[in-house]
Amino acid sequence: MKLYSTNNPNNQVSFKEAVFNSMPQDRGLYMPVAIEKLDEEFLNNLASFTLPEIAFQVAKHLLGDAIPENDLHALILDAISFDAPLVELEENVYVLELFHGPSLAFKDFGARFMSRVMAYFLEKGEKLLDVLVATSGDTGGAVALGFLGVPGTRVTILFPKGKVSGIQELQLTTNGLNVRAVEVDGTFDDCQALVKQAFVDGVLNQEFRLTSANSINIARLIPQTFYYFNAYAQLLRAGRSNVVFSVPSGNFGNIGAGILAWKLGLPVSHFIAATNANDTVPEFLRTGVYKPRPSVQTISNAMDVGDPSNWVRIRDMFKTDPAALAELISSFSYTDEETLSAIQKIYAAYNYIVCPHTAIAWQALKDWQQDQPTGNVAGVFLSTAHPCKFPDVLPEHIAAEIVIPEQVKDLDSKQKQLTALGKDFEGFKKYLLDNK
Ligand SMILES: *Cc1c(COP(=O)(O)O)cnc(C)c1O
Repeated sequence: MKLYSTNNPNNQVSFKEAVFNSMPQDRGLYMPVAIEKLDEEFLNNLASFTLPEIAFQVAKHLLGDAIPENDLHALILDAISFDAPLVELEENVYVLELFHGPSLAFKDFGARFMSRVMAYFLEKGEKLLDVLVATSGDTGGAVALGFLGVPGTRVTILFPKGKVSGIQELQLTTNGLNVRAVEVDGTFDDCQALVKQAFVDGVLNQEFRLTSANSINIARLIPQTFYYFNAYAQLLRAGRSNVVFSVPSGNFGNIGAGILAWKLGLPVSHFIAATNANDTVPEFLRTGVYKPRPSVQTISNAMDVGDPSNWVRIRDMFKTDPAALAELISSFSYTDEETLSAIQKIYAAYNYIVCPHTAIAWQALKDWQQDQPTGNVAGVFLSTAHPCKFPDVLPEHIAAEIVIPEQVKDLDSKQKQLTALGKDFEGFKKYLLDNK
């Protein structure tokens, strides 16, 4: 597998290099040189495959000889070890539940696959791989649990004090082993600034082999295509074949993976990008002007992104035909009031509880369907996290009804371990050097 930088098609690297470096020097993003359609036979028979089987076929197709087949197979079975069921809520409305992994969020797909790919490429005797990650909640949990116990790696998570939910904080701080948590007296942006500065610090780079685990890593994008194919397989089994996906979007990695799946031959008729007040992309699709902005805070905080990184990848996939992009994707944005109202409507209509991000995707699907001549299109909205991760945001009487999943039941009894730091870089640097 070869990848190029979206800023320079001649800048090409191997899969291994793209995984360890995340971002090319020219600040573009890595994309596969070849995005060929999967073979017809496989696509026509999707209904007969399980999620790991689908994941293996898609990964093999994209990765080529970057990882030998037997090793890739073992890696997939290890990484994709939980289900992504499609649940019908009413006629033409399905929810794709992506929260059955260890951290109860769809980011488990990306983080588990990426951690195992990194571990696979690490050679014996190589320097410990130090993963630094700043999180507003979900990313840190997925990365921590993704790398937990993976040999040759260590994870340092920075999270903003008092700004992550109870369950998220437990997921970040109770791991032990090769995962450590740093509570920063500041905002998520402060956490991110510390990580960014660490990456350009001469002394730290001499001492450590630093890598980031952020959502622009190609090894996080690829596994997110798997569940789109698997959702389609489930629809086929239910006798459906026409599908629109509504995706709650922040950094646009999730929907970017869906569009990559479409490029690989998955017959999706339409995508809906659903955002909160951070509506840079909806505005672009309306006006044709892409105007990045500082993010604004909302109750769906994992989507508080004013300049979504992965949008570059999506545009790159349409570089020969930009008009087709506007045809394939619709976009809607919602306020916090509308998000809360959607949570309530979903609960009232189906007795089903969603997280605020998921609620936005449902509302966007409903609004899109309003404007469509009925028809036979199955609407699928993606549920990106379990609602128990955001209890404070939900109306109390709904939060009280949440069934807590097994994965988090015993977190309460575990010991929290964290180091509290200020937001100054020198303090963080000293912490890293003192705790080699
Ligand atoms: C990260 C996240 C999103 C946004 O996904 P992107 O790939 O950044 O668009 C949506 N919902 C939840 C719960 C998340 O954690």
